Amino acid sequence: MDYFKYKNSSLYCEGVSVKKIAKKYDTPLFIYSQKTILEHFSKLKEAFSQIKPLICYSVKANSNLSILKLLVKAGAGLDIVSGGELYRAKKIKCHSEKIVYASVGKTEEEIKEAIAEDIFMFNVESTNELKRIDKIAKKSGKKVRVSLRLNPDVESKTHKYITTGKKETKFGIDKKSAREIFLGADKYKNVIIAGIHLHIGSQITESFPFISALKKTKEFLAAIPASKNLEFLNIGGGLGIVYKDEQPQTAKEFAKNTLPLLKTIGLKVILEPGRFIIGNAGILVTKVLYNKESYNKGFIVVDAAMNDFLRPSLYNAYHKIITVDENKNKLFQKNKLVDIVGPVCESGDFLGKKRKISADEGDYLAVFGAGAYGTSMSSNYNSRRRAPEVLINNKRCYRIKKRESYQDLIKQEIII
Ligand code: PLP
Repeated sequence: MDYFKYKNSSLYCEGVSVKKIAKKYDTPLFIYSQKTILEHFSKLKEAFSQIKPLICYSVKANSNLSILKLLVKAGAGLDIVSGGELYRAKKIKCHSEKIVYASVGKTEEEIKEAIAEDIFMFNVESTNELKRIDKIAKKSGKKVRVSLRLNPDVESKTHKYITTGKKETKFGIDKKSAREIFLGADKYKNVIIAGIHLHIGSQITESFPFISALKKTKEFLAAIPASKNLEFLNIGGGLGIVYKDEQPQTAKEFAKNTLPLLKTIGLKVILEPGRFIIGNAGILVTKVLYNKESYNKGFIVVDAAMNDFLRPSLYNAYHKIITVDENKNKLFQKNKLVDIVGPVCESGDFLGKKRKISADEGDYLAVFGAGAYGTSMSSNYNSRRRAPEVLINNKRCYRIKKRESYQDLIKQEIII
C-alpha cells in the first residue's frame, strides 16, 4: 500500500509530480509519502486496538527528524539503539516515557545519558550490561526500569543478516542466563526488571516465527515464579513488507494470530515497527547517466549508488525499479535485460540486476521500497554527498534534508 502512482503517464507521489521534484532538488533524491507513513501506523494501531499497545517506531529504519516528529505527533513512542538516536528523539521532544532503548553494546556514556533523560526502559541484552546499568543507576540515585531481551532461539525465515532470534546470533539473553537473572534479581537494587523483550528479526512475512517466540516466552515465564511481577512484553518489530511478490501478513492478520497468545501472557504490549511503517513510504529517484554495453551485456549507469542505498549490495535485496515516465516502460525490448548500476568503484554497486527497463540518458528512475534502511544506512563512500530528502503531504512538498555539500564532507577532518 503506497501513494506512488502514475498519472497521465508520469509518476506522482500523492499529488506531486516526481519529475518536478527531481528537477527542483536534483538526484539522487529520497521522496516520502506522509499519507503512506500515517496509514501504516494507523493500521497497526487499529489492528491491536483491543490491547492498546505502546507502538515505538524504530528510529534506525529512517531517522529523519521530520519523520520522527510526524510519528510522535501521531502518538508513537520511539525505539532507539544509540546516543545519537536518543539525541534525535529529544530533539523532536519525544516524551521520555515513550522511549525504549535496545542495542547489544550500550556504552557507559550512552547509559548515563539515557538515565539522565529518564527514558521509559532499557532493553537489556546481557547480564554484564544489566550489572553496568545497575551500577550507573546507583550513582545517578535513580531506579531504572529494564526489560530483559530474551533470545528465544527461533528461526525467522528471513535474510541471515537480519535474523536476530537464533541462538548463534549476538542478540538477547539465553534462557539459562535470563533465568539466573530473575532468580538473583535482588542483587540488582537499582533496576526494576519490568518486562521481557523480543526482537527475532526483520522482514518476517509470516506469523509463525512470532508465535513460536511467544510460545517459548510463555513457557519460560511460567517456569519462573519470580517473573510474576513483570508488567511489559515488548514483541519488537520485524513485520515484513512487499518488495517484489511477497505476500506478507497484514497488520490485521498479525494481530489476529498473535492476540490470543498475547492475552494469555497478559502483559502490557510494546511494539517496535520500523520497516512496516516507512519501507514502502519512500522511493529513491535517480537519473540515468549512461546506457552502456559491454561484452553484449547491457547496463544503465545511474547517479545513485550503494552509498545512497545499500540494501541491494548488502543483502542482494530486490527493489522494484521503474521509469518515472510510464511510456518509457513500454519501449523495453524483449530479451534485453539490463543491470542498473551506480558510479561507485565496486562490482557490488548495483540497484537492480537483469531488469526489463529501457531508459535514455537524463531519464529518471524510481527505486521502490527505499523508505526504510535507505537513507539511514547511507554513507559518504567514494566521497559522495548524501542525498536530500523530501516529504510529500498531498500537494505540498517539504524539503526535510538538504544535499550535503563538499564542505560537509570534510568538516570533521584535520589536515596536519
Ligand atoms: N527493534 C529492534 C530491537 C531492532 O533491532 C529492529 C531492527 O533491527 C527493529 C525493532 C525494527 O525492525 P523492523 O524495521 O524490521 O520492524
